[in-house]
Formats: sequence, C-alpha cells, structure tokens
Amino acid sequence: MELRSGEALSGGRDEAGFVLEPADGSTQTARRVLLATGMEYRYPPLEGIAERWGRSVFHCPFCHGWEHRDQPLAVFDRGGALMLTAWSDDVTLLTNGPADLTSEDRGRLEAAGVAIDERSIAGVRGPGGTLTAVTFTDGSERPCGGLLIAVTLHQRSTLAAQLGAVSTEPGPLFADALAVDAAYATSVPGLFAAGDAAGVMPSLANAVASGNTAAAMVVMSLTTAPRGLSASGAGPGATR
Ligand SMILES: Cc1cc2nc3c(=O)[nH]c(=O)nc-3n(C[C@H](O)[C@H](O)[C@H](O)COP(=O)(O)OP(=O)(O)OC[C@H]3O[C@@H](n4cnc5c(N)ncnc54)[C@H](O)[C@@H]3O)c2cc1C
Repeated sequence: MELRSGEALSGGRDEAGFVLEPADGSTQTARRVLLATGMEYRYPPLEGIAERWGRSVFHCPFCHGWEHRDQPLAVFDRGGALMLTAWSDDVTLLTNGPADLTSEDRGRLEAAGVAIDERSIAGVRGPGGTLTAVTFTDGSERPCGGLLIAVTLHQRSTLAAQLGAVSTEPGPLFADALAVDAAYATSVPGLFAAGDAAGVMPSLANAVASGNTAAAMVVMSLTTAPRGLSASGAGPGATR
C-alpha cells in the first residue's frame, strides 16, 4: 500500500476504471475510488462570522452547545431555536427583519421561553474568537456568548461530478450530497463515497462509520467482481 499526500485536482473514467490527476502532475489509475472529500460549510456572509466560525459562532448545538451552556445564546436559524433551549434558558431567535412567523409558531417559541428579535443584523463582535454581542443596522446590539447559524454543505470541488457521480436533490442542509446506496456505492460503478460528501449526518463518528462500511464494500466488490459475483458498487457485468 502507498499513502500519497496532495490534492486530486481532476479525474475521469477509462476502460480500466478511473484516472485521477494529483496536483504534482502525476497520474493515478484505480479500479475503485472511495471519495471521502468532505463538504464546504457555507454560512451567511455576516460581518465578524468568519473569525469566530467553529468557536463562538457555530452550526451544530451538539458540537458546541456544551461549551456555551447557560450563556445568553442567539440563533439565526429558526429550526435550531427550540433545540438550543436544551443548553440555555436564555435563547433569542434573530429574524433579521420582520418575522415571517405564523401566530402558532410565535406562540410555540414564546411558550418555550425563546425571545424573538426582529432587528436587521449587521454582524457580531467580541475580542478574538469570542462573541460578546450581535450588532444591528440601527446601531444597537444584543449581548450574547454564542450564535447558532444555519449552514448549507456543498461539494468542495467538481471532482465527483467529473467522475460522473449523481447528487441528491438539494435539501435544507446538503446542497449537493452524492447519491449513495446502503453500501455507499454512488451512481457510477466502482465509485464509492462516505462521510459528509455522501450526505451522512455530519459528525466524526458517522464519517468514520460510513468510511468503515464503504471500505469493506470496496474490498468486497474487488474480490467478487473478477469471479463473476455481483456486489453493490461493482456495477452490472463488472469483471475487474
Ligand atoms: C466548525 C465545525 C465544527 C464541527 N464540530 C464537530 C464536533 O464537535 N463533533 C463532530 O462529531 N463533528 C463535528 N463537525 C462535523 C465533522 O467535522 C464532519 O462531519 C467530519 O469531519 C466529516 O468527515 P469527512 O471525512 O467526511 O470530511 P472532512 O473531515 O472534511 O475530510 C475531508 C478531507 O478530504 C480532503 N479533500 C477534499 N477534496 C480533496 C481532493 N480533491 N483531493 C485530496 N483531498 C481532498 C479535505 O482537505 C479534507 O482533509 C464539525 C464541523 C465543522 C465545520
């Protein structure tokens, strides 16, 4: 086995399988490819978010909620407001302008103790990677120690598309996750995908688990296809 570092810049398919072109100018051929390329997490382009991303501004209450428990928290993601009440009694939903909320939804939020702030957001501020307040376009601000924001996950490059992999329909979280079956086989025979790139619920444990299964399926398809047996991901009639 050889472990190579570097970015796979481009790729394609030929009669033997796949051809990948790493950044060092070489060529790598393979009968199977397992894409574990992750996703780019895109968040709203608000002033001050980038410096605090993954620290005091975050997308996942399970990843960051404990560190910010019992602090005043703001949420720029309607779906996350109720969930965040598991970590703090001081949660405010930011609507960034007049709230598009039904009276029923407003009642549910208020019943859960979630405040609703309809001011237009300018950005966030605080020393270093910390957060002390959300600022508004009218010059006012709201003190808070953590901000939950909505993100969408996008493929980091066109590599999967170059290899012919089909994506699932865009959803609220994944913009273009790769379509895979239960064995993490994509729509292209011999091409597998795992982790965030394959639309698995984003977490380290899920990425590892899906990679573990996908790797086993790669080995299975490599050992069964040449013997005339079918395995998920090998593709119809595969003999290599
Ligand atoms: C800010 C933040 C905080 C998080 N906190 C947590 C947490 O606390 N707990 C938790 O369980 N999860 C957390 N997650 C989610 C978790 O990080 C992901 O679900 C997980 O890392 C996905 O693993 P992956 O292997 O699919 O992708 P990644 O971890 O993104 O790894 C993909 C790798 O592939 C490389 N790559 C991409 N394209 C190419 C290419 N063309 N050629 C070569 N290499 C390439 C990338 O550089 C990267 O190193 C967090 C995510 C974010 C953004």
